[in-house]
Amino acid sequence: MTAAVETTGLGARYGRHWAVRDCTLSLPRGGIVALVGPNGAGKTTLLHLAAGLLRPSTGSIRVLGEKPYYSSGLMTRVGFVAQGAPLYSDFTADELLVMGSKLNRGFEQASAREQLRRLDIPLHWRVGSLPGGQRVQVALTLALGKRPELLLLDEPAAGLDLLARREFLRTLMGSTAEQGATIVLSSHLIEDLDRVCDWLVIMSAGQVQVLGSVEELKARHKVLIGPVVIGSAHQKKIIGVAQVVRASHTDRQSTLLVRTDGVVHDPSWMVQDVSLQDLVLAYLADPAEGLLPGPIGHRSDNGVQGVHV
Ligand code: ATP
Repeated sequence: MTAAVETTGLGARYGRHWAVRDCTLSLPRGGIVALVGPNGAGKTTLLHLAAGLLRPSTGSIRVLGEKPYYSSGLMTRVGFVAQGAPLYSDFTADELLVMGSKLNRGFEQASAREQLRRLDIPLHWRVGSLPGGQRVQVALTLALGKRPELLLLDEPAAGLDLLARREFLRTLMGSTAEQGATIVLSSHLIEDLDRVCDWLVIMSAGQVQVLGSVEELKARHKVLIGPVVIGSAHQKKIIGVAQVVRASHTDRQSTLLVRTDGVVHDPSWMVQDVSLQDLVLAYLADPAEGLLPGPIGHRSDNGVQGVHV
C-alpha cells in the first residue's frame, strides 16, 4: 500500500525564504502522526503542500500516491482543517452539514449530525456564536463527515481548554479506530499528544529533525541521572549509549537524555523512561546549550539531523 504522505527532497520557499528544505519522509497509513516544532519551523507549510494548496519549489510530495497540487480528485480523499478552524460563521452547524453533503459525494450527514448532538452542540446556532471548543468540533466533524483516508489538522486544539481538548482528542482516536484514517496533526501541546500519537515528526528551521514511531523512539531513549560528567577527566563511554542528545548539570549530578544502542548497565547511572515532551525538548534544544563535548557528547553525522527510528 502506498504511504499516506511521501516526500523526496521537498522544498518550499516564499520569495527567497525557504520555509521547508530538503525534506524526505514517509508517513505510513493508519494512526495519528504528531507534527511538532517551534514557531516558524515549517509545519503549516508542509501541511499546505500535502493539502495541495502550495506547489513544491523543489523535490516532490505524494499524498495517497498522488501529487496533491496537480490532482483535482485527491481532495475527495483528504480532509484539511486550517489553523483557527475557519468556518462560515453566519451558517448554522446544520447548514454546514447540508453544504458538506452537497459538496462531497458520500458525505455521512446523518452520523455527522448524530456526533454533534452527542457533543451537545446546538445545530441551529450560527457557528460564529459557538464557543471555541464547539467550533473546532464542528470543523472536525465536517472534515470527518466525508470519511477521508487522510486528515490534515493544523493546530486544531490551540486555544481550547483542557476538557475541550480531551473531547477533541477522543473524537480523533475514535475516528482512526472506526474509519482507519491517517491523521496528521500539528500542535504545540505536546503533553496531549503523548496519549494519542503513534508517530512523531519533529521539525525545525524547515527540516525534519526526527521521525519515528512514538513507541520505538521512547524505547530507544532514556534519561540517565548520575555523576557529574563535565570535563574530559570524567568522560568515558557509557555502555548501551549511542549518543547523548542533551545534557544538563548541577554541582552534584548530570542528567543526560540519551539514544541507546543496548541496555544501559552502568550502576553509577539511574535509568528512567522518557516522555514525549522530554524527547521533543531534547531534540529541539540549542546544541550550544546542552551537549557534552568529547566521547559521549559528540553529535555524530547520523545523530540529531534526521534521526529516523
Ligand atoms: P507556527 O508554529 O508558528 O504556526 P510553522 O511551523 O507552522 O509555525 P510556517 O507557518 O510553515 O511555520 O512558516 C515557516 C516559515 O515560512 C516561517 O519563517 C514563516 O515566517 C515563513 N512563512 C510562512 N508563510 C509565509 C508567507 N505566506 N509569506 C512569507 N513567509 C511565510
